Amino acid sequence: MAGDNDELRNAVIETCRAMNGLGINNGTSGNVSVRVEDGFLISPTGIAYDRLAPGLIVHMRMDGTFDGDVLPSSEWRFHRDILLTRSDLNAIVHTHSTHATALAIMGLAIPALHYSIAAVGGHTIRCAPYATFGTQELSDAALGAMEGRRACLLAHHGVIAAHGDLARALSLAVLVEELAKQYLLCRSIGDPPVLDDAEIDRVLVKYRSYGQQRSAQDTAVIPSAARDLLK
Ligand code: 13P
Ligand code: ZN
Repeated sequence: MAGDNDELRNAVIETCRAMNGLGINNGTSGNVSVRVEDGFLISPTGIAYDRLAPGLIVHMRMDGTFDGDVLPSSEWRFHRDILLTRSDLNAIVHTHSTHATALAIMGLAIPALHYSIAAVGGHTIRCAPYATFGTQELSDAALGAMEGRRACLLAHHGVIAAHGDLARALSLAVLVEELAKQYLLCRSIGDPPVLDDAEIDRVLVKYRSYGQQRSAQDTAVIPSAARDLLK
């Protein structure tokens, strides 16, 4: 119901619009969710992002039920299943960004060409096997590919990026697209050299103390953080 969680509903809307504004998604493709106390908020299915209003963001329970007549994203199953099984993740951004989707069409995982792949939580970004959009089979495949990671590719489909809040999930979706573009460019020249697992392990440790070490409260300022990305 609009009125509940208004700030987060607006943050979902801003994140949807930012996906398209940043050039990592088009039209009504993609979707966004964020955990709330009694379930999650998720973008509605098939509504243009410039038409979204807080009352069109669907509040779903973890059993997949919801009130009202606005239908949730067709991908609510993988949003729900990730939030149910991953207590480290609170926000999910799904896009059809071009370069990442090109790799996903080829069924290619992204290897450790650039050290920043560690932001995804491991040495590779896996590609989940193909399943029809909106199915439980797709959710199961996505959960497997996300194991120990914050992002994955979906074969013949797109990207899932998830994090502790919407701003960081959106940033990660941008990073996945960037890494995918780098991989495609490198493959056009030859067989790119890959950083070894020990180096990525070192980066994973360094990332724990990287940056300004802002408080969780700072990073929870979702709308302005999403806006910053658009500057
Ligand atoms: P929705 O409009 O239902 O969220 O679907 C978009 C999409 O990306 C399906 O995979
Ligand atoms: Zn999709």
